[in-house]
Amino acid sequence: MDVKKDFVLKNNVRNTLTKFRNFPMVPRVVFGSGSFGQLGEILMPHRKSTEAPMVYLVDDVFEGTGLVERIPLICSDRLVFISADEEPKTQQVDALVNEIRELFSEEPSGIIGIGGGTLLDLAKAVAIMLTNEGGAARYQGWDLVHKPAVYHVGIPTISGTGAEVSRTTVLLGPEKKLGINSDYTTFDQVILDPDLLEGVPHEQWFYTGMDCFIHCIESLSGTYLNAFSQSYGEKALDLCKEVFLRDLPEKQAREKLMMASWHGGMSIAYSQVGVAHAMSYGLSYVLGVKHGLGNCLVFQHLEEFYPEGVALFHRMKDTHGIVLPKGVCGHVSEDDLDTMSAVALGLEPLWENALGPDWKARVSAEELKSIYRRI
Ligand code: NAD
Ligand code: ZN
Repeated sequence: MDVKKDFVLKNNVRNTLTKFRNFPMVPRVVFGSGSFGQLGEILMPHRKSTEAPMVYLVDDVFEGTGLVERIPLICSDRLVFISADEEPKTQQVDALVNEIRELFSEEPSGIIGIGGGTLLDLAKAVAIMLTNEGGAARYQGWDLVHKPAVYHVGIPTISGTGAEVSRTTVLLGPEKKLGINSDYTTFDQVILDPDLLEGVPHEQWFYTGMDCFIHCIESLSGTYLNAFSQSYGEKALDLCKEVFLRDLPEKQAREKLMMASWHGGMSIAYSQVGVAHAMSYGLSYVLGVKHGLGNCLVFQHLEEFYPEGVALFHRMKDTHGIVLPKGVCGHVSEDDLDTMSAVALGLEPLWENALGPDWKARVSAEELKSIYRRI
């Protein structure tokens, strides 16, 4: 029997019935208080030559702190401080890649991102763009990257986005805010050291933590849910409830939030986010509101879609004395509101996950605009 022909035939039959996603996971991860100290040892086998540096992209909030002294800089390694005040942009990625290419005769041995979702996404995008032609905007979308990225490592210093585990890097491009979703985006190595979360400002801790909580709610109540994402989503949701509704010792709270973020990210890997994320993208596209805060601003008004989740959110917010900004969209023009809702409604898989295949009949631009006006 022709084995190959037989396989192709059977496989085609299977594929016409259903198509399962085959997505990458982070192959190596270290967890533990103080594990950041192992970075030098972890990188060593990946150093290609003395001329092929490790490039560390570090949140500039750490400039002048003890963390920087612990970064294992050797040979031609380079440390670049980057502000996380604004979300990453495709032009910023292109500029960083050009800078690296001009500085070094050899391709870097690795790119290491140290910071929150902003720095993690930049590190992923730079690693991809060092080996792929053209500008980053060209690769915003699904599975448009065809060459493996440079070795890249993610080291989160704030928890919630799940960027440390996801196969996307969310970038603001000239035309859209959209991720580079690809099998090459996922980190090759992640270091989860809960000690690095010390010093995160209270409000930011809440906003980024709520990103994880919202991932869980959107995943668990979505139509794409399956046992794989449910198992991660439920664990992440339990951890969020412990962290945000119970009075845990700080160290434990940091550890649990770090793992909640991981599990929340894993949960959406095999399902999808929903209404809050779609609308938060619109808000961010027009007003530049950052992801964590944007999600909270939208989510507070989504009782129609997520009644239990929104009630829990208000309890968590009140427990921690968080007062969300008001009047954010107060002066937004009709044109801008149209853009916001168009950006939101353009994210079809998110709506399909949230409301099912007939989602277009269940939500309108007018309805979204009326929610935006309340923000
Ligand atoms: P962030 O990286 O934007 O950082 C938020 C703030 O916290 C910044 O001011 C930063 O300097 C500060 N900070 C971080 N760590 C700190 C520490 N240890 N001590 C003191 N200050 C610290 O925050 P974020 O919410 O993690 O990331 C948001 C970004 O993540 C957005 O750009 C969003 O698009 C992206 N995101 C990506 C994914 C993904 O899967 N790739 C998922 C969700 C969100
Ligand atoms: Zn998110």
